[in-house]
Amino acid sequence: MSEIIRFENVSFAYDENAPEALRGVSLGIERGSFTAVLGHNGSGKSTLAKHMNAILLPTRGRVLVNGTDTADESALLKIRSTVGMVFQNPDNQIVASIVEDDVAFAPENLGVPSAEIRRRVDAALECVGMYDYRLHAPHLLSGGQKQRVAIAGVIAMQPECIVLDEPTAMLDPAGRREVLSAVEAMRRERGMTVVLITHHMDECVGADRLLVMSGGEVAMDGTPHEVFSHPAELHALGLTVPDTRLLLDGLAAEGWDLPADALTVSECARVIADFMLKEKREKCLHRP
Ligand code: ADP
Ligand code: MG
Repeated sequence: MSEIIRFENVSFAYDENAPEALRGVSLGIERGSFTAVLGHNGSGKSTLAKHMNAILLPTRGRVLVNGTDTADESALLKIRSTVGMVFQNPDNQIVASIVEDDVAFAPENLGVPSAEIRRRVDAALECVGMYDYRLHAPHLLSGGQKQRVAIAGVIAMQPECIVLDEPTAMLDPAGRREVLSAVEAMRRERGMTVVLITHHMDECVGADRLLVMSGGEVAMDGTPHEVFSHPAELHALGLTVPDTRLLLDGLAAEGWDLPADALTVSECARVIADFMLKEKREKCLHRP
């Protein structure tokens, strides 16, 4: 795999006197990978995200997208059509009064021919499960539906990479699930590179890689299994471990001998079911 985004010793301050919001960040995002970024408020997640498609430019260091420096003004369109961005508030991202017009907005601005736009809009709405709502008014949809329309708008631009900055923060649990399954569909059906910024631990467990930001630096970097096996270090950064991990630790404290590395709900359910089956079998064997 090759890298689609590279940060080279990137520092950034919002103004001359402000403390740096990014401090010497170096990292690469592999093409086709799913990276989650976690960190408490103010740790620099959004600042990091905005460097990925030239919304912000480094104060020092540089960011390369497919090898092109994001500071190269003549490459701005190319960079923006390679890396798409979804923000926290779906209401701020809706521009049209009909769902399909909204999704068509960005590709229209990129000058895509209209037959091709039709095809892209339908495919993008299918991908996020919003095709049946194509003629609806976006402002009447639920938060989760609006956010899926915003994601469809980015998919319709056909970027190689999508960066989502806390896309579920303003949604209820049902909306969160809808958005996460749209992200999953995008990866599965389109092989897109995904960077998901979140403060929900459990949204990170399916990622290939987890970056933890603190004070403008990458404080931890590894697979979710690796990162979540350092609860004390996470705690020091103001974070905790996923509920699945807390459940397994709690059961272990009660004397259940369980593998502690199950993170997703289905992995967790499987290790608990396996344990209970084993217990049951042993009880049967030892019955007088
Ligand atoms: P996060 O997304 O992790 O909450 P941010 O990247 O938004 O963190 O913020 C990092 C730091 O930069 C914080 O100290 C924040 O106060 C500051 N900051 C963020 N946006 C701005 C801005 N537009 N102007 C000045 N300072 C900002
Ligand atoms: Mg933020």
